[in-house]
Amino acid sequence: MSAHYDVLIVGGGIAGLSLVSALAGKCTVALVEAEQELGYHTSSRSARQLIPSYGPAVVQELTRRTLQLMAARDAELPRPVLSPRSFMLIGTEESVLAEGSGQMKPITHAEAMELCPVLVPDSFTAAGLDSGSFGCDAPALLADHRARAEAAGAHIMTGARVHSAQRLGSGWQIGAGQEAFEAAVMVNAAGAWADEVAVISGVEKLGLQPYRRTAAIVDVERPLPEHSPMVAAADQSFYFRREGQGVLISPSEAVPSGPEDAQPRPGDVEQLVAKLNQVTTLGISGVRSAWTGLRTEAADGIPVAGFDAEAPGFYWLAGQSGYGFQTSSAMAELAAAQILAGQGAGPDAAPGSGAGAGPESRTAEALAATRWSIRR
Ligand SMILES: Cc1cc2nc3c(=O)[nH]c(=O)nc-3n(C[C@H](O)[C@H](O)[C@H](O)COP(=O)(O)OP(=O)(O)OC[C@H]3O[C@@H](n4cnc5c(N)ncnc54)[C@H](O)[C@@H]3O)c2cc1C
Repeated sequence: MSAHYDVLIVGGGIAGLSLVSALAGKCTVALVEAEQELGYHTSSRSARQLIPSYGPAVVQELTRRTLQLMAARDAELPRPVLSPRSFMLIGTEESVLAEGSGQMKPITHAEAMELCPVLVPDSFTAAGLDSGSFGCDAPALLADHRARAEAAGAHIMTGARVHSAQRLGSGWQIGAGQEAFEAAVMVNAAGAWADEVAVISGVEKLGLQPYRRTAAIVDVERPLPEHSPMVAAADQSFYFRREGQGVLISPSEAVPSGPEDAQPRPGDVEQLVAKLNQVTTLGISGVRSAWTGLRTEAADGIPVAGFDAEAPGFYWLAGQSGYGFQTSSAMAELAAAQILAGQGAGPDAAPGSGAGAGPESRTAEALAATRWSIRR
């Protein structure tokens, strides 16, 4: 016997969890995750920073809306998920101008040194500051989505890898682990595996590409001040920020990979430590932990959200690249509205029209202008 749901979401990272909590209570919904733990892959490996000036215009708009939604939720939580942490870009004038956009404001060299006194003064000539940036308690956010979803009746199952899916009548018949499901809508929120899930389902893949990115927590002789910004090189050669008494560092690499449980490669962290010990006076003395995650992107770098025009009832929620947390609540709001409005809406329908959830039209328009229904 198959369990029947209106919507079945494949993937329990930030994308799937944000959507299940947005849909729960409005329809019958289940989420299946291949691993024993939710958020095991990329969603537990991020730098936990939400940067309004980061990414293409549509990502910046999704970030603005996500911050609004998260701030509203924070007002109801005993401990907020968001905490102010500005973001500073350093480099040459040319590189900072090229990278910094939106609400990133130029600051003087002296102001940059005051904000981050461990920088070696002649390692940069220009800086920009996004003071509307936030740190994000990612584990608490994932846990909150799960708790809200389950409290509203959603079914969440771990250790259940989707191994088969086929169109059946007006819906989908899906095999996950030992279980069988039927659902009117199947959502593909499988991160680096999104193309694989499409293939399993007989849907043409989109050519999503996972890219490796490594990070580490290191011990330092000279800790960063408590409210220091996250600092990133405009040429994308590193970033770092305070993490308790230690420092989180990343070489900002983007190396193509297949979908896998990515792990750091020998030398990645050591080379970065050597570089940071040249451009800062942090005095990195040891590596506490290191990890690698996969940032998965469509060819145009724009997040993928929408029904597949050639596969009725198949909804893509993927390609969040390095912005999966900062776009998550807005993406879930939009996806939930479109799913609730019904697949009948088609590519030309106004996003959210007829949906009870009613995402902010400015955000919906921004996404609709770039991609709403998936057409090849
Ligand atoms: C080093 C690093 C730093 C980052 N920093 C930031 C940051 O500061 N801010 C930010 O916004 N973003 C950041 N990101 C990006 C962010 O982490 C990702 O965009 C986000 O986590 C992607 O979430 P997801 O749910 O799409 O993917 P995932 O978290 O990978 O979730 C997909 C899930 O699908 C499951 N799955 C796959 N196949 C199946 C199947 N067949 N059946 C069932 N389940 C399946 C997987 O097991 C996985 O758990 C960073 C990423 C990295 C690597």
